[in-house]
This record gives sequence, structure tokens and C-alpha cells, in this order.
Amino acid sequence: MTLQERDKKHLWHPLKQHQLSPDSVAIVKAKDCILTDEAGNEYIDAIASWYTCMYGHCNDHITSKVYQQMQQLDHVMFSDFTHEPAVKLSEELIKILPDNQDKIYFNDNGSTAVEAGIKMALQYYFNKGEKRSTFIAFEDGFHGDTFGAMSVSGLSVYNGPFEDFLIKIKRIPTPNGSNHKEILASLAEITENQQVAGFIYEPLIQGAAGMRIHNAEGLNHILSFFKANDILCIADEVMTGFGKTGKYFASDYMETKPDIICLSKALTAGLLPMAITSCTKDIYDGFLSDDISKGFFHCHTYSANPVACVAAIAGIELLTSTEIQENIKRISEAHVQFGKTIENHAKVKATRQIGVIFALDLNTTMQRYGDLRDKLLKFFMERGVFLRPLGNTLYIQTPYTISNQQLNKVYNVIEAALDTV
Ligand SMILES: *Cc1c(COP(=O)(O)O)cnc(C)c1O
Repeated sequence: MTLQERDKKHLWHPLKQHQLSPDSVAIVKAKDCILTDEAGNEYIDAIASWYTCMYGHCNDHITSKVYQQMQQLDHVMFSDFTHEPAVKLSEELIKILPDNQDKIYFNDNGSTAVEAGIKMALQYYFNKGEKRSTFIAFEDGFHGDTFGAMSVSGLSVYNGPFEDFLIKIKRIPTPNGSNHKEILASLAEITENQQVAGFIYEPLIQGAAGMRIHNAEGLNHILSFFKANDILCIADEVMTGFGKTGKYFASDYMETKPDIICLSKALTAGLLPMAITSCTKDIYDGFLSDDISKGFFHCHTYSANPVACVAAIAGIELLTSTEIQENIKRISEAHVQFGKTIENHAKVKATRQIGVIFALDLNTTMQRYGDLRDKLLKFFMERGVFLRPLGNTLYIQTPYTISNQQLNKVYNVIEAALDTV
């Protein structure tokens, strides 16, 4: 029996209606930008396996550090203990995070990084004796699938069964360069009538919504409003962090910095699940007290797993290297050129790009998990490229290590697909 056949016996995959969806492709090997399936077919991983393995799969620099760490200290609980990889990672992260970030809190996935951020904001005010219960978020934002994260996510198409159980949320549109006055007016109204604990947002680009980019200046106005009104800002950089937008963090584009930042995905270079919620000293200080219950009693068993920390440290070494920074520039420039080539194609409604992220909207309506999506996915796979349409959006977010030849292949299959849809 093939892996694909054995898979069907006991496995339940995420984001899948098993009665309708095609079988899963069994991958047996991944190296740099190439995935190999059980039949020996090769695919360029053009979305870096959900934008995680940005330095290429099984990167030797990262795997060798991880291998050494595994023989030294595999895991120890992070409550009552600490260790070199966690300490070192906190030092290295603070160097590259926005200047106001001071404390590093460990989680194990993007959703729980957000969950911890939401709980930090709620308890920060609670500790001051204030009961604040509302969050503000962008329309169509995506922040994860646990309850808090699901509540603040605006992409609620599949949240139906849970809607009655979510926390209170007010939504605002993303800034487009000309609407920030209206947004600020509606924020003034919301904050007058509600006790708002925080604003959570994907800075500059909303990933799951279809790689939608918004206006940095408008976002800065919004952040400044919250600062002036003593409302915490939580930047969900789970997708945008670690170089994707051309800077280390998307928050680097705005003058006003978030109070809390959520990180995961590329944090461990795609090797191990881990997440971090960083925050300012002011927030951390809000939990200091002689009263034990004012501490932050949120914990995950694998917090700060030493092996994952070492993968993250090795990832930061690569991110900050001249070689990777040059690659980010090279890919960004290639995307700009590709955008120019196809923007006038009859099947293309719009193109956009920031850093290594490129997206185009097809001139058709398309269901998020429908037929055309499956057909397109198959079209790309048959041509040796893994691209995953998001509604009518096609996007590219390859590892930074992709070669020009591989990148051109990705562009070519997209052009070929445009001629067939
Ligand atoms: C993927 C993602 C999450 C959720 O992360 P998981 O590790 O899948 O729980 C949250 N926010 C953003 C912006 C993401 O892209």
C-alpha cells in the first residue's frame, strides 16, 4: 500500500472536508526548495510550507546546530528551570525586534502566541483594577484557530458552530491611504462606548485574507490613536516576521510600535513548532506584585523547548547574514518585474508585492476550498510547483534560498495557469 492509501485509514487532516477533497500527497523528503513525493516527483515549495522554512528545508546550518543540541539537552520544563538556548534566543531576538520590546514569553504555535497576547492585554488592565473586555481588529484578519484567536479573526466563514462562544470584538476596515479619517472617527465612537483592552492586527499584510496589503501611514495613524488612548496594540507577526516584508518585522515600517508582538512560523526556520509573544517592559511590570495571582498563569508544556530555541537562534543567524539579506532583495526585485509582466493579462485583476511576498487576484470568482481551487492546485503540482490558491488569489512566498531558475519556473507555471483558467 502507498502512504497515500495508508493515510486514509486513520488520519484526519486539517482544513479538509474529507468527503469532497482529493487525497493528500505523501512527501518523503524535503531539501532546500524541493519537496519529493513517494513516487519520486519533485515540487518547488513556492509557499515555503506556510512560510515557515524560509532558509530552505533541512538547512545544514540549522540541522547541525539542532543535532548538537539534541545530544546536550533535549527538553526541560521552563517553569522553575531555564537554559542557554532560551537565554541566548531572548538576547538575539531583542536585538532585532522593534526597540520597545523587552520581554520574551514562549508558546508553541501561532494561535497560542495570539492567545497569550490577548490574555496579557486583558490581565494587564485587570491587574490595574480595570475590567476591559472588547478587542478591536481588522475585517478579514486571521489570527489562528483557538478560541481567543478565532474570536479576533474576521475570516469567519468556517467559525459558524462557535460564534456564540467568542469574545467581544469590534471590526474596522484596513487603511487604504484615503480612509483613515473615517476609521479614526469610528474608533473614537467605539472607544467611547466600550472598554477596549486591545487592538490586534496583522501589520501591513493580511495573509489568510489573500495576501492583502494595506497602507503603512494609515496604520501608523491607527496605532497612534490607540497609544494616545491607552489601549494596547498587539501585532500578529506570525506570518510577516523574520524578513518576509523586506524588513525584519513588518512593524519596522511604522513609527508607532506595538506593545505586544506575536511570532511563530519562520521563528524556528520551519523545523519545530514554537512561538513567542514579546512585550514591552511596561506590560511585564504590570504583572509584578506581592500578590501571586497578578502573575501570568498561562503555560504550555513545551514552552522554550531547547531544541526549538536552537533552531530559532540558527535561523536568526541566517536572517541577519548578508547572503540572506541579498536574497531577499533579489527575490523582491524579481517579483516587481514579474508583476509588470502580468499585470495587464486579461485574467489578472490585480497584483501586489511586498518583500518576498507576491500575490495576484484572478479575474474570476472562486470558492476558498472549491473545485477551481483544487484544479489549479493540481495544475501547479503536475508542473512541479506547489502553490496554494487562497480564494481567487495566487501568491508566492518561497524560501529565501530559491534560485533564479526555480523562481522563473514558478512564474512560468503561473503564466501558464492564467492562459488556461
Ligand atoms: C498561521 C497564522 C496564525 C496561526 O498560527 P498557527 O501556528 O497555525 O496556530 C496566526 N496568525 C497569523 C497571521 C498566521 O499567519
